Formats: sequence, C-alpha cells, structure tokens
Amino acid sequence: MKICIIGGGLTGLTAAYHLGRDHEVDLYEKRRHLGGCVSSYEIGDYHIEEFYHHCFSGDTRLFSLMESLHIADRLEWLKGTSGYYADGTVYPLNSPGEILKYPLLSLMDKARLAFLTIRSRKTDTAPLDDVTARDYITRELGDRVYRSFFEPLLSSKFGDRKDEISAAWLISRIAIRSHRGLSGEQLGYLDGGFFRLIDTLSDQVGKDCVMRLQDPATTLSREAQGWRVNGLRYDAVISTIPPHLLPGGGVPGIPPIPYQGAACLLLSLEQEVTSGIYWLNMKDKAPYGAVITHTNFVPLERYGEHLVYLASYFQGNVPARIDQVMLDDFCTRFRVPPDTIRWHRMAVDPWAGPLYTTGFRNRILPYQEKGLYLAGMFSRPNYPERSMNGAVAAGEEVAALIARDKEA
Ligand SMILES: Cc1cc2nc3c(=O)[nH]c(=O)nc-3n(C[C@H](O)[C@H](O)[C@H](O)COP(=O)(O)OP(=O)(O)OC[C@H]3O[C@@H](n4cnc5c(N)ncnc54)[C@H](O)[C@@H]3O)c2cc1C
Repeated sequence: MKICIIGGGLTGLTAAYHLGRDHEVDLYEKRRHLGGCVSSYEIGDYHIEEFYHHCFSGDTRLFSLMESLHIADRLEWLKGTSGYYADGTVYPLNSPGEILKYPLLSLMDKARLAFLTIRSRKTDTAPLDDVTARDYITRELGDRVYRSFFEPLLSSKFGDRKDEISAAWLISRIAIRSHRGLSGEQLGYLDGGFFRLIDTLSDQVGKDCVMRLQDPATTLSREAQGWRVNGLRYDAVISTIPPHLLPGGGVPGIPPIPYQGAACLLLSLEQEVTSGIYWLNMKDKAPYGAVITHTNFVPLERYGEHLVYLASYFQGNVPARIDQVMLDDFCTRFRVPPDTIRWHRMAVDPWAGPLYTTGFRNRILPYQEKGLYLAGMFSRPNYPERSMNGAVAAGEEVAALIARDKEA
C-alpha cells in the first residue's frame, strides 16, 4: 500500500515506524525538522526541548518504543519538585511538612484536599464530563479552596476558558498525579533530552520511508481508489494534525475540537531563582502560569547554565510582544538583572493541545472517519492529557488498524 502520513510529530513518526517496513510511506512535515511539540534547540554541545518535557512512571507505550529503539537505558528518574508562588513568596509543596506550613489554605482545607486526591483514584469520571471543574470543586471543597488552589492552576493552563473545563478532566488528572511519594514526584527524562528519542526514531523511519520536510500537505482530495495529497496518489492517508487544519477545511461532519496555543520562553540564567523548585505555579497574576527550572530537575552540570522556562497558554492569536512582556515581568518579580540573562528563545505553537471543556469525551475522534485515518492529540490515548505516551499509543493504534484493514 502507498500511505501518506501528514505531520512529523511523535504520532506521525511512530505510525511511520510501524508501517514503513511493509508499505511505501511518505511522511509530510511542514517544518524543516521532525518532532513537532517534542522539538529541541541545539545550544552549543547540548539539546534542550523547545517546550518543557518529562514523562511519568505509567508511560508504558513510550518506554516500549524506547526499548525497541535501544535507548531505554538512557531513561532516568529524577525528583520533580513543585511549589506555589503566592503573595510574592515561593512556597515549596512537596513534603507533608511543607504542605502543612502552606499558609493560604486552612488545616481543614488541606485535609479535604488530601481526601479528594485519594478518592480521585476511584471516582467514576464519566458523569463529571458535563460538570465544570469550578462547580465541582466549589461544591466538594468550598469556594476558598477553589479560589486559592485550583483557580490559579486552571487559569495558568486554560486562561480565559478556565470556567469551561470539565470536572472529569480535572479529577482524572488529579488521579494520575496522586502517586507521588512523601518528598515529591519522580519524573522521567532521557539523558541527552527527548531529542535523543526523536533523533533515533527519525533515523529508523528514514531507512524505510520518504521524509518530505518543509513540505506541508496543502491539497487533499478523494479519488476512486484512494486519495491525492499534494498531487501524489495514495491508498491511505493518516492525518496527525488538528482535523480542522486539513487542506480543504477539514473532515466534513466533525465538530471542531477546541485547541489552545502555548508560548514558552526559555532563558539561560547565571543564578537559580526558584528556591530549588522545578515546577513553580504562579498564584499571583503574571503573564506566565508557571516558572519551570529545568536545571532544578536535570543536573545543572550537563548544561553549565541555569535553564528556565516561562510557560503560558493562549487562545486565538499569541499576545503581542509576549516574550518581552514575560521577560520584563520575570526580571522584576524575581529580581534578575536583565544583563545576567545570557540568551533567551521563544517557542510558540498555536495548536499545542485541546481544551478539555465540558463534553470533551464525546468529541474524542475514532481512528477512522470518512475514509481518512486520524490519530493525534484528539485520540483516546491522549485523554485526559495529551502526552508523548499518548502520541506513541495513537501512532501505534492507527498503524495496527491500517494493517488490519488491509488484511480484511
Ligand atoms: C508546552 C508543552 C509541554 C508539553 N509537555 C509534555 C510533557 O512534559 N510530557 C509529555 O508526555 N507530553 C508533553 N507535551 C505533549 C506532547 O509533546 C504532545 O502530546 C505530542 O508531542 C504530540 O505529538 P503529535 O505528533 O500528536 O502532534 P505534534 O507534535 O503537534 O505534531 C504535528 C506535526 O504536524 C506538523 N504539521 C502541521 N500541519 C501540517 C501540514 N499541513 N502538513 C505537514 N505537517 C504539518 C507540525 O509541524 C508538527 O510537526 C507537551 C506539549 C506542549 C505543547
């Protein structure tokens, strides 16, 4: 079979990896390199992700892919500490002692929060899909816990649309993250960065498939026995990009999936400013929702400079001058002299992930729709959160479906 894959992110690469040996596969990627959201910068002698990345202990599909690429021995488990920045103060929130000391929630609030976290693992989230996270948390834990703990988190992740996010999404996320130990969470990282995953995978895929870089799929039309993409004929097409971006206006009949964009400013600093914390959520209003100090997670010695992401999500167009606005705020708030910032790089992805609004579960797409194969952030393995693991699973599952359809 002649197969076209649109999108050279992790989903498209994984599908190509599984199909390339038995089929003629063309992989179309609009950028000049592969990796999509897991792309990296090359800085001197190291690589660092454009957008912060780590993986979780349950990411079994990702680990199997790493095994098959012989890079699993490079996976390491490191402490991913977290905290809150509130009222101008950094509060670490890892050990029970630190949580007890956190002054913005009462003891009773903390006990109820802990109970909700434990209960989340057994909660049937299906009936919560049509309930907003705000209504659910306010009902279960009260307005103060919502306002001082959950609202800033939702706001930093979903901006103005935070009030539309479903409770099913929030509770599923809490359940996934509830297995942390007494001193913080162990998170996975590849020695050499996730660049190593994309690089090794791309090398393998390149042996069997035609890589069409800087070649966006711009035309797509149906033919008697297949499809035509950019003038070439294919028996099957897998699209891994947001469905409404497909040439010709998307797949008829599929309601649009709401997406949001991400803007991530990566800074090189001479000093560390988040009290040793990896992931600092901003409760105070700021033009970024989290300050993520990569070198408080992965050893500083590997880079020789402190690497910090300022992370923000947006809807619609990226706000004007967002990089400068973030930089100015960060320097003032964390008392960093601007001339001590060695360099900074901005990454923007307008299609960084779905918005998990109420009713989202019903919008999860099947792998085949109107004769097209669809796999990506909108597929089942990426609920409740799109991830590298979900991308690998979606890529594998759509490849298996094509193989099955061919045999039928
Ligand atoms: C800010 C951020 C942080 C993240 N952090 C984590 C994390 O810590 N852990 C984790 O597991 N996951 C994380 N993720 C999620 C993870 O990176 C993604 O879920 C996964 O990489 C998605 O892969 P994909 O191939 O489905 O989509 P994408 O990576 O979006 O790939 C789609 C590709 O299609 C290309 N494309 C678009 N239009 C066309 C066209 N017309 N023709 C050809 N090519 C086209 C794009 O350039 C892109 O390369 C994060 C994502 C973001 C944005």
